[in-house]
Amino acid sequence: MSSQPGLNRRALIRSSMVATAAGVVGLGGANAASGATARRSPTVPAQARARRAAAEPRIYTTEEWGAQAPTQDIVVLDRVPTYIVVHHTADPGNSEDYSLEHAMEICRSIQSAHIARGFGDSGQQFTNSRGGYALEGRHQSLGVVQGGTQHVQGAHVADHNSETIGIENEGIYVDVDVPQALWDSLVDLVAWIATQYDRPVADIMGHRDFNSTECPGTVLYGRLQELRDAVADAMGVARVPAPEVWPLLRPNAVGPQVRAAQYLLRAKGFTGVGTTGVLDAATKRAVVRLTETHRIERHSCSATYHSAVDETGYLGSDIWPLITPTGRPGENEDVAAAVETMRRAGARTPAAAGAFTLSDWKRLLA
Ligand SMILES: [Zn+2]
Repeated sequence: MSSQPGLNRRALIRSSMVATAAGVVGLGGANAASGATARRSPTVPAQARARRAAAEPRIYTTEEWGAQAPTQDIVVLDRVPTYIVVHHTADPGNSEDYSLEHAMEICRSIQSAHIARGFGDSGQQFTNSRGGYALEGRHQSLGVVQGGTQHVQGAHVADHNSETIGIENEGIYVDVDVPQALWDSLVDLVAWIATQYDRPVADIMGHRDFNSTECPGTVLYGRLQELRDAVADAMGVARVPAPEVWPLLRPNAVGPQVRAAQYLLRAKGFTGVGTTGVLDAATKRAVVRLTETHRIERHSCSATYHSAVDETGYLGSDIWPLITPTGRPGENEDVAAAVETMRRAGARTPAAAGAFTLSDWKRLLA
């Protein structure tokens, strides 16, 4: 359901990337013409550099970390993935063992857990450890990304596995930051994948941009734009503005976004939901009902974490498109009230009074 706005947004990004590339060619030509003086300025400004290939980092293979054989066939699609998705493993927490052996043990542990959940192999294509080691996750992922034209279909984002390539970052980043070694390794790995698949950095996303989940943790999620910028620098391409995304509301959350969601749920027929501004039991029940009615798969990155911290009733990226009508908000009293709630809270509203797009809603609810 979120693929259509994604396509529109990508089309815009694509056209801006083309414009940037044209500018780079022009500047490169000028530099080339004055080659005799180039040695005087070894530091070329970022915007004057042609897009460069990010080097392949050392990635430990499934064979090296002792993976068991997959229990299902590995599916290789004749397409490249659109989005590079950042996850956190949640389990086994934030270990202070930064060794390669520990990183390999994490891979074996995740693979066993994912096979037990019916994924056939590790769900994610790559794993990144707190010690800064990058490892292949699902079998064949390394070789296929090296090829640059195909995609190993994983099992890490519900309903979007044909278009996403995932990196599980060891640890849980709900309220603490990642180690520097993990960050540096993540930048290198994402820059290489984006280079191989020729993806714009705007398509670097977090798991919660697809499913209603805490993953990759509020702290790591909050650094995604910094990651896009670092990857852009590593690739020698222009930095881009942050993409528009849906907010994540958890049970007991308070504020205008919750009140707007409550009006939107009422407009969808959940008339028992009050406009309290608190994500209360009645609101949570409505969200769960929507999840069931639309058969939205709950996808988490860690069984243990989710048995301890229940994500039932989280209202995120897979729920908002079901309750934000694309049309003229004034045609429904409750939808109009949702818009007015956000307007009063200082949100940006579309300049034109016409029909709302999903992008309009994202900007309004941001
Ligand atoms: Zn995840």
